Amino acid sequence: MIDFHCHLDLYPDPHGVAAECARRGLTILSVTTTPSAYRGTAALATRETIRTALGLHPELAKERLGELALFESLIKETGFVGEVGLDGSARFRRFWADQLQVFERVIQLAEKNGGRILSIHSRAAASAVLDVLSKYPGAGVPVMHWFSGTPAELRRAVSMGCWFSVGPGMTSGSKGKTLIAGMPEERVVIESDGPFVQKSGRPVLPWELDEVTQVLGEMWKESAASELVCENGRRLLNSAKL
Ligand code: MN
Repeated sequence: MIDFHCHLDLYPDPHGVAAECARRGLTILSVTTTPSAYRGTAALATRETIRTALGLHPELAKERLGELALFESLIKETGFVGEVGLDGSARFRRFWADQLQVFERVIQLAEKNGGRILSIHSRAAASAVLDVLSKYPGAGVPVMHWFSGTPAELRRAVSMGCWFSVGPGMTSGSKGKTLIAGMPEERVVIESDGPFVQKSGRPVLPWELDEVTQVLGEMWKESAASELVCENGRRLLNSAKL
């Protein structure tokens, strides 16, 4: 199994979580929220099964704008970028100009460096995210994390070649399920988004995604949904440049 969007460094005991993932044969894409967190998080990846993505989260764009130079030097070290994107929700909309500056620069750098696998946040901002991606077609493979746009925005993302990482927040409600139904099965992977996502009052762990694959299986009329998302994830990981 592969957890395609997990904030390993933000768990209270990241080393313990990493060791348990290894014990269970679980692969994770360990995303970061700031360039300055990248090196320390990459140091947690003592095994091939943990891949570390370089990120600059849109919620932190204003305060971490100054880390773009660090982003530019670190991107040469990894085939994965994330968490990056835009957030148009009420709380973060006022920092839109900074968010846009950061996201556009990050996508431009991904293209300049030959393309990356991109784990992308697009809450209340799907159209704007797709607008930026369409300007840089060589930026790599966008994986829309917890996509929550409109059906029309979803169709546009699909037509642009986007992948989707689906987590517990999407499979538990009808809006998420409607969107999942519009995603090509061969471009869906799964994610925990832990420790931000909670399960039974505590942060969800990367190996607790059975409910997600179960719902996907029911929706796809597929008995082997976990094998399918696993194979999708492997194909995506293998397409990384580094
Ligand atoms: Mn996240």
